[in-house]
Amino acid sequence: MNVFEAIREKGITARQAAEHCGIKVNRNSMAVCPFHKDKNPSMKIDRRYFCFGCGEKGDAIDFVAKFYGLGKKEAALQIALDFGITFEENRGRKPPPKRKRQLSPEQRFERAEKKCFRVLSDYLCCLRDWNEKYAPHTAEEEWHPLFCEALEKKDHIEYLLDILLYAPLSERVELVTDYGEEVLRIERRLEQCAAGAEGGVGKNNGKDGAGITAGNMV
Ligand SMILES: [Zn+2]
Repeated sequence: MNVFEAIREKGITARQAAEHCGIKVNRNSMAVCPFHKDKNPSMKIDRRYFCFGCGEKGDAIDFVAKFYGLGKKEAALQIALDFGITFEENRGRKPPPKRKRQLSPEQRFERAEKKCFRVLSDYLCCLRDWNEKYAPHTAEEEWHPLFCEALEKKDHIEYLLDILLYAPLSERVELVTDYGEEVLRIERRLEQCAAGAEGGVGKNNGKDGAGITAGNMV
């Protein structure tokens, strides 16, 4: 039984609801209408209510909704709370089928942009990490491929992130469009990287880094 059914079953009247809102109802079931400038009681209020002055009408839920400026569901929940009515939501009822939301072009861009930013930020973190971790210690030492990649890409990725952060919309759209596929490649690579790092714990000699080969990604 949902909250609406529960209130109906309890038979909460508009009068009860109104009185709970502080409205005084006289012996003739008339009240001063709270919905228009009413001097004399012009609202008939019993099971339902009707105002002869302004024409407002409805049941208990309508009254509370109008009185407090609530939606019907909120008003019903308020009444349930005020009158100690228990109810169960959605019992014996199928949940509404999930509809696939149609995204507007703006929403699609926003998503793509967020993803782009996230992936590039993650990549930049890796590059900064590699830049320190694999820096050669001696002049003769051969440069680690991840160190080379860090040197090569770091500034460029920082530049792209700057665009995403500060550039006008048109430039951001251009970037997201141009780099879409590469962002996907970087994302896959970072995933492999993470998986490789997990799998490589203990047997990683520090020479082959996260277990991936540096490629020419960007
Ligand atoms: Zn009225």
